[in-house]
Amino acid sequence: QAKDSGRNAVRFFDPLMQQAVEARVTLENDLRHALPNDQLQLYYQIQVDNDRRAIGAEALVRWIHPIRGMVSPAHFIPIAEETSLILEVGAWVLKTACLQLAVWADRPMTCNLILAVNVSVQQFKQVGFVEHIAELIRAYCIVPQRLKLELTESVVLNDVSDIVQKMCALKSLGVRLSMDDFGTGYSSLSYLKNLPLDQLKIDQSFVRNIATDENDAVMVKTIIAMAQNFRLNVIAEGVETEAQLAFLKQNGCMCYQGYYFGKPAPIEQFQSQLEALSKTV
Ligand code: C2E
Ligand code: MG
Ligand code: MG
Ligand code: MG
Repeated sequence: QAKDSGRNAVRFFDPLMQQAVEARVTLENDLRHALPNDQLQLYYQIQVDNDRRAIGAEALVRWIHPIRGMVSPAHFIPIAEETSLILEVGAWVLKTACLQLAVWADRPMTCNLILAVNVSVQQFKQVGFVEHIAELIRAYCIVPQRLKLELTESVVLNDVSDIVQKMCALKSLGVRLSMDDFGTGYSSLSYLKNLPLDQLKIDQSFVRNIATDENDAVMVKTIIAMAQNFRLNVIAEGVETEAQLAFLKQNGCMCYQGYYFGKPAPIEQFQSQLEALSKTV
């Protein structure tokens, strides 16, 4: 333990808190080695339309830790976001996703799929982000409309004119833009009229109790109506049950993602899901 003593300079009275801080520092250090050691992997989760046809997928990063096994992105992405590690992780995700799009382009079953990639605030704010995307599109000969970037409302909290300009530049490349976890952030409605979005993504926290919680039901109906009025596509995430799907459909939702249609899976498994789905529609 002698070699760890330097890190233990800060001591908390509460041993549990001490433990939590140490665990976090360890995880952050481990994360630095994740990329060079090939521990990151992309999972793909299917997205379908009202006819249950596959329209695309969301790429979701996984960290296969040598000791802990799979670490959830909900856990390590926030850590990466507090350091500049998110830039490396984000660049790797984008590159891997673009490579996958290039592979899909060669096969009839996958050539029309749209791949959605999560982009964090830091990454989006980075100087040269648009050029980086343009470069990837060129390098992998990607049809730009096949690439969708998922932004969160926290992106919009920043210097709005810079954000709008970047989003417009991405739009002129042909890339699609989706607002992830819509309704959970601190956003104002006014950004809907200023931002060149293609899609609103209804957060799963609203979808979860859609059939039993009147407030959630109203929230979801309102988001769908808003999307329709602004001529935006709308997708619901976290669809797990037939009842949720029925409610969403009835209220005009256009696209769906959730365990009901398929869990995020490694690429081979995702491809099997696609094949199975194509036989049922
Ligand atoms: P998100 O972008 O909102 O992704 C949706 C999350 O909901 C995913 O969790 C997905 O596995 C989960 N999910 C999908 N369908 C269902 C369902 O029917 N029921 C339930 N209970 N959950 C469902 P995941 O993969 O753990 O990712 C968590 C979050 O981590 C993502 O939320 C996203 O914010 C972030 N993330 C994941 N990959 C990346 C990435 O490559 N870059 C960045 N910046 N963030 C990422
Ligand atoms: Mg997302
Ligand atoms: Mg989401
Ligand atoms: Mg979410």
